[in-house]
Amino acid sequence: MGEYARYGSGDAPGRRRPVSRTTETTMQDDATELDRALEGRGRVLIPAELKDAFADDTLAVRRRALSKSVLLGTGFYVAFALGDAFAVPDRLQLALIFRLAIILPLGLVVFYWLRRTRCSLIRQQCVACSFHLLVVGLLALLVVLSESVDALGFVFASYALLMFMVISMALPRSLVAVLASVVVLIQAVAVAHGPLRYPTLELHNLMIAIVIIGPAIFANRALESDRRRQFLLMERERLRRRQLAEQRDMLARLAALDPLTELANRRGLNAGIAGDLDRLTSGARVAIAMIDIDHFKAYNDHYGHGAGDEALRRVARALAEAARPPGRVGRMGGEEFAVFVPGITHHELPLYAERLRASVQRLALVHHHSRTAGVMTISVGMVLGCPTSSDVQMLFEAADAALYRAKKAGRNQVSIEDLTRPDMNAHRTG
Ligand code: GH3
Ligand code: MG
Ligand code: MG
Repeated sequence: MGEYARYGSGDAPGRRRPVSRTTETTMQDDATELDRALEGRGRVLIPAELKDAFADDTLAVRRRALSKSVLLGTGFYVAFALGDAFAVPDRLQLALIFRLAIILPLGLVVFYWLRRTRCSLIRQQCVACSFHLLVVGLLALLVVLSESVDALGFVFASYALLMFMVISMALPRSLVAVLASVVVLIQAVAVAHGPLRYPTLELHNLMIAIVIIGPAIFANRALESDRRRQFLLMERERLRRRQLAEQRDMLARLAALDPLTELANRRGLNAGIAGDLDRLTSGARVAIAMIDIDHFKAYNDHYGHGAGDEALRRVARALAEAARPPGRVGRMGGEEFAVFVPGITHHELPLYAERLRASVQRLALVHHHSRTAGVMTISVGMVLGCPTSSDVQMLFEAADAALYRAKKAGRNQVSIEDLTRPDMNAHRTG
């Protein structure tokens, strides 16, 4: 498994989540490991990297289980006060003192403390267990002090209590083992000093312990496995959602990119222009340049398609460098490119167009069939407009018309048109 860290706005504070991965394969590895953990039979194992996240994730559930068990337990202990008259009639007063003066207030105090405290989970678990063990101890004391044989009913009650604790408190296995051992020990002492001195009673005590503790531990494990499986399923769901989102982003990126030149394609350029226009202040000027390589068919025919591709790549790089941000370059298809320049002025326009044209000529890509400069050249048609008065599509059409004029005028030319000042059109040659 790869790196995991905090994330997620809707998550509880301190909760750990996987951070965005860089590679598709790392996420795939994580998904495979989660699949494997979920498919495993028997005990569900949490991968090492997710252990902290799992602990954080189940912390609230475990805390709630503790306070609930103390409250429910207190309710039971008080309700069973009715049985004392039958079980320990000779110690009824003491039994009622235990239940109403010790267990009831203490149970409420522990419940309140568990709801408020922020101390470690293990400490809270120890406090909740101690409370239940105190009850078991008090019941055992009644068995020892009473002469009534029916007091032995408290031994069964204590085991039922143990079962309730193990199942309801979502305890770790180590604590369950300690708890069970202490309860069995207390019962052994109670039976040994109880009202019925009968040697095989200890054996019965042990058998009852095994019969009760076995299923209780089994239920505890089954519930823990459910919690783990639930967590892993959620984790896998999150991972899949992130995988899908990353794939969607990658597809969107690829769909906006020209694979040969790695410039934006027509779709990518349009999206970039739309974003730029949103950010522009009203009344700002924008320019669009349409660019076409001169005599490129002849270049292809003479030097081959591979050399033509390489030339396209080099022209693309030269244009991208010459355009400079905020200028945006895209490949419109074939040997045609477009540049979008937001915030440019009338005075900057000729220089900008000339910079584009010269950048390709400076590459000095030998082209004996160009009939212009002996090297590869481009023709540029550039228009300046105001996107609020003329829409971008119109600017593209005007730039295309300007390009046509540059071609007609002999190629390796720039033709400029300022749509905001129609009287100031100009042609420049390289
Ligand atoms: P003009 O100066 O009038 O623009 O002439 P031209 O030869 O450049 O224009 P024309 O439209 O006749 O030819 C364009 C050529 O561009 C034709 C095609 O073989 C070539 N071309 C288009 N796309 C690619 C490409 O991706 N790779 C290569 N190597 N050539 C391409
Ligand atoms: Mg063309
Ligand atoms: Mg051409």
